[in-house]
Amino acid sequence: MADAAGEPDIRLSTPVRDLPGIGVRRADAFSRLGIQTVFDLIRHLPARYERHFAEGCIADLPMEGVGTARGTIVNTRYITPMGRGKGRFQATLEDHSGRISLTWFNAGYLREKLHPGMTVRVQGKVKAFGGYPQIANPKWEPLDDPNRENTADERYRPIYRALENLPSARIEELIALVLPKVLPQIVEPLPVEMLHHHAMPALPEAYRLIHLPEDEEEAATARRRLAFNELLLLQLGITIKRHFNKTSLVAPRLKWTVAIDRHIRDRFPFPLTPAQDGVVKEIAQDLQRPQPMNRLLQGDVGAGKTVVALYALLMAVADRKQGALMAPTELLAEQHYASVGRILAGSNVRLALLTGAIDAAGRRELLADVEEGRIDMVIGTQALLTESVRFRDLAVVVVDEQHRFGVLQRAAFRERGAGENSPAVVGGTPKTGPLRSPHYLVMTATPIPRTLSLTVFGDLDVSTIRGLPPGRAPIVTRVVPQAKADEVYRYIAERVKKGEQAYVVVPTIDATGHESAVQLKSVREHAKHLQDKFFSGLKVETVHGRLASETREAVMERFRSGRTQVLVATTVIEVGVDVPNAMVMVVEHAERFGLAQLHQLRGRVGRGTDGRKSLCVFISEPVTEDAAARMAVIAETNDGFRIAERDLEIRGMGDFFGTRQHGMPPLRIARIPEDMPLLQLARRDAEQMITADPALTRPEHTLLRRLLVQYYGDALGLIDVG
Ligand code: ADP
Ligand code: MG
Repeated sequence: MADAAGEPDIRLSTPVRDLPGIGVRRADAFSRLGIQTVFDLIRHLPARYERHFAEGCIADLPMEGVGTARGTIVNTRYITPMGRGKGRFQATLEDHSGRISLTWFNAGYLREKLHPGMTVRVQGKVKAFGGYPQIANPKWEPLDDPNRENTADERYRPIYRALENLPSARIEELIALVLPKVLPQIVEPLPVEMLHHHAMPALPEAYRLIHLPEDEEEAATARRRLAFNELLLLQLGITIKRHFNKTSLVAPRLKWTVAIDRHIRDRFPFPLTPAQDGVVKEIAQDLQRPQPMNRLLQGDVGAGKTVVALYALLMAVADRKQGALMAPTELLAEQHYASVGRILAGSNVRLALLTGAIDAAGRRELLADVEEGRIDMVIGTQALLTESVRFRDLAVVVVDEQHRFGVLQRAAFRERGAGENSPAVVGGTPKTGPLRSPHYLVMTATPIPRTLSLTVFGDLDVSTIRGLPPGRAPIVTRVVPQAKADEVYRYIAERVKKGEQAYVVVPTIDATGHESAVQLKSVREHAKHLQDKFFSGLKVETVHGRLASETREAVMERFRSGRTQVLVATTVIEVGVDVPNAMVMVVEHAERFGLAQLHQLRGRVGRGTDGRKSLCVFISEPVTEDAAARMAVIAETNDGFRIAERDLEIRGMGDFFGTRQHGMPPLRIARIPEDMPLLQLARRDAEQMITADPALTRPEHTLLRRLLVQYYGDALGLIDVG
């Protein structure tokens, strides 16, 4: 298509390959940057900016700025490389005001091109080098006519993420070409008053300013607006979901009486701490309401979350309904099953374990028992989420270690197993009336910094258990180099001989938590090495994710009962494992683990209450700056909340939850935690909007709603809003 003037008609949806001057190879390069359409192109935001100064004389060149100057080459020198590699070419440029040194690396070819006496124009970033101004790798052009006009303007230039065959300058050119044509096609999704109120430019203007700012201030204004857009959409999605949960779902109201409370507490081997009591109260109040609870329980490793969860599950059972506890690994599910079983021994609560390890016949029978209500409480893994699991009357779901599950999975229980009384559910949407849902309690031992709980877990209420149960002696943490490993193991052998137990953790090789073949071998090899060299006469066993579950259960049981003294493991023991007499831990290659994971691992020791101090030794050779920073943090504090905040600072939000998807689109522009104030602004606005217009059906919100469905609809269940 072409308009009246014969110009090609450029739309936001126009493929980049159809733009003038873009051949197959260029188009290919753009597509490698994730850019297919013109809209993708203008959303390719500058990574940074560079100030380019107008041409000036050498004495006036800006330090640390990109400057342009012309002059005469007064001398050149080629410095041959030491060993292999290419040499360095140096020249001195002079004008009436002074001299500057120019250096090109890997530039032997310049010997043929640049000679004393030539007049050239050079451009580059001016830095002090050994006290003298210098430009490294300047761009240069010969000036045949020394009096030619000075053409370089002073400019603040965007620098884009680029490729070798698609330099930033080419991207800049193309964006500058399309921007004026497509800006009018960008529609402002936000109400005008809101923009006024926050002193923010409209969206088209923000796109113009981010690509073509006059100065830092304009670029910052534009970025703030675009980041706000992103955060507002996120907060709207979360707020709508929250609102929907509160108004369109019904949950069973559970009874909470003096007798029930007494009954449940009598089961526990210890009185609850005030912190646990506080959280139990919050939960019990939620469970009495007809809206489903959606609560995140966070507390440091060992804070005692399990009994709180069990309290909630037992409230369901006391009211003749069912409870389910879902753990991220089979090992942890088995652990929970064993410890809950001990607490409930002798009661008439009917408890079952459902993991992927169960055989088909056993599974069929178990599923029938669950569906017909012969089981009160099920503990399991993701296997609980499969289609075939139906409950007669599921009232409370506890999800342990939520950071390892997708947000999406929480929704899965909602559509099933609310029993005969629930309306028929077709394709995930209710035919009539409100949808029945159980109450949810999700637990995490990776404390979520507030910024993140507002984003990733923003649809949840949050309860926090601060501090640890009484009687815990602090854990002594040491970070030591590999060279000291033998010394460490000799010391640990001493302690084990005196009756303590020890974990030795060997890293997995890929970050996903699955051990590769190489890894399994190293667990076994390391165990053998330790057995032979340090732990002769002691019982050493291994545990990892590839063991059959009966074998693994047996290993854990022998360790728990003290028959095994040393357990060499992969990170399968990272969560939940609770053996109070295990007071020593060694983590090999600690630099390979994330901070949260190291803290989790360390949380396996220090569980005794007899006052003896536990020891955790991280053997590491920090190879990167980040790894060194992590080691410093883990050595310095045992406070999970502090660690989580530092972790977020070191890694940034994208990596905080590891490689697992958590059902949220990544933030592209906003930066967490720096943009916290903007996030709070977005949250307030979103709440106001949704209070006034819950389904965003007002005309001024139509566009926003469409965007929301487009970006987050599936992830946040927005489609349900109708
Ligand atoms: P986490 O919060 O990491 O899941 P757990 O629930 O596994 O922690 O509890 C850690 C340990 O503390 C367990 O051995 C548990 O029995 C013990 N514990 C929990 N609450 C109390 C309490 N109120 N008094 C004494 N010990 C407790
Ligand atoms: Mg736990």
